[in-house]
Amino acid sequence: MTTVATRARPVEDPATGHVLREVADLSADDVAAIAARARAAQPGWGAAGIAARATVMTRARRWLMANTDGFLETICAETGKTRDDAQLELTVQAQSFAFWAGHAKRYLADERTRSRSPIAFGRRVIVRYEPIGLVGVIGPWNYPLVNAFGDCVPALMAGNAVILKPSEVTPLTALLVEEMLSDCGLPADIFTVATGAGPTGEAVVDKVDYVMFTGSTRTGRAVMQRAAASMTPVSLEMGGKDPMIVCADADLDRAANTAVFSGLCNSGQVCISIERIYVEAPVYQEFLAKVTAKVQSLRQGPPAGAGAVEVGAITYAPQLEIIERHVEDARKKGASVLVGGSRLNGPGRFYEPTVLVDVDHAMSCMTEETFGPTLPIMRVGDVSEAIELANDSQYGLQASVFTRDLEKGEAIARKLQCGAVCVNDAQVNFTVFDAPMGGWKSSGLGSRHGASGIRKYCRTQTVLLTGLAPKRDLHQFPYSALRSRLIGTAVRRLYGR
Ligand code: NDP
Repeated sequence: MTTVATRARPVEDPATGHVLREVADLSADDVAAIAARARAAQPGWGAAGIAARATVMTRARRWLMANTDGFLETICAETGKTRDDAQLELTVQAQSFAFWAGHAKRYLADERTRSRSPIAFGRRVIVRYEPIGLVGVIGPWNYPLVNAFGDCVPALMAGNAVILKPSEVTPLTALLVEEMLSDCGLPADIFTVATGAGPTGEAVVDKVDYVMFTGSTRTGRAVMQRAAASMTPVSLEMGGKDPMIVCADADLDRAANTAVFSGLCNSGQVCISIERIYVEAPVYQEFLAKVTAKVQSLRQGPPAGAGAVEVGAITYAPQLEIIERHVEDARKKGASVLVGGSRLNGPGRFYEPTVLVDVDHAMSCMTEETFGPTLPIMRVGDVSEAIELANDSQYGLQASVFTRDLEKGEAIARKLQCGAVCVNDAQVNFTVFDAPMGGWKSSGLGSRHGASGIRKYCRTQTVLLTGLAPKRDLHQFPYSALRSRLIGTAVRRLYGR
């Protein structure tokens, strides 16, 4: 990549505090130059066809699997996450390559129908999907492979050129992906990584035809506002405060294992982390005992080998302060800390896996996104109270319900105000690429995955074909009183019943 960037930014290992390397801090002019090259290259990629694009994605899947160590080391180094958390990213990314290589053809195939409209009756109608052109993907630091790059795969499969703006905190995985795609035969300038901070992201928003953003609600709003100036469509995947409801008839072992894993994996730095738990009173003590014992047994530290530790570092320095603030606020307002509750002394940034009880919605740990290894647990009188509390949130990304009665679980799910609900599970729907994943309320706009996850990167064109037809249709000029009466009678017969 040729750029005129002169500034550089250090990339730090959050688990040790060491600087790993420096990367270019691209200016708006650099981004404009990348966009111009991408636009020049895109028509060729768009014309190459889905099969040719799928071949590149299949090669990338194999490349990823052949170079797992390199990816694991890079992801662990720049995020401080455990080896097993990084492995999960690789697994889901490989699945993403396979899914989009296999499904893009079906989702983007022409849709043909015959119109039943009284005015266009019998006309052949084709709905077709054209690449939108140049897509900007702005990614977060928590999953540099799967959350930042993952959204590029359907955009590329749809025939677009893509500029990926990774978080300034975790650009190294994105640069490795750039190398991988080039090795796999992706034409030059179709995928470019624009390293830098917020201003680089703004420049990307200004230069692309579509923005896919993942990150905070605050920045998501700013991105949408900026994109409005050029009427650029956006898809926003933002924060969450995912609730978990544990009913009295739940399998408490499964519920406790899921709470601990889905609340604390990746140190809780997951948009679909379990961030608050509501437990029906009859099983509250038993559930609490199980969760507490499990959290006490977790090992924490810098990423070592596979299976070495369960909980890693806090990737982004300001996040540590947010976690501390939420725990302190809860303590001040009457919560008790049953496990953890402190940051560890350096080197590196670590916050202990933490269990909080006697919490309520006056505390920020129950209402604001913590994005850390905390599990606030609240006793509720019944399921109705749990639903009310779960919905008492500005967010609506995902939720979990635990009950042995699936019908009841589904009925509760239907009352929850969020984009996805797992019954007797959490988070796993992210790997169900067939189904849309997106948030309600301040959690997002649009969705990833499924048909809409690739069609959003397209311009839709409707082609209407009129074959055998009279010289003049009934509704065409010149108007006459007789034909007007005929049309009026027909419309009344059709719609007046
Ligand atoms: P941000 O929303 O600030 O950053 C997300 C991405 O947007 C990064 O690449 C960032 O670049 C970029 N960016 C920042 N400002 C702009 C801008 N004005 N225009 C365009 N792009 C911009 O998230 P943070 O990293 O600051 O994390 C803040 C909070 O977001 C966390 O505390 C957490 O609650 C939430 N979060 C949610 C995630 C999710 O998956 N939904 C993931 C990560 C965080 P740069 O990083 O270089 O500033």
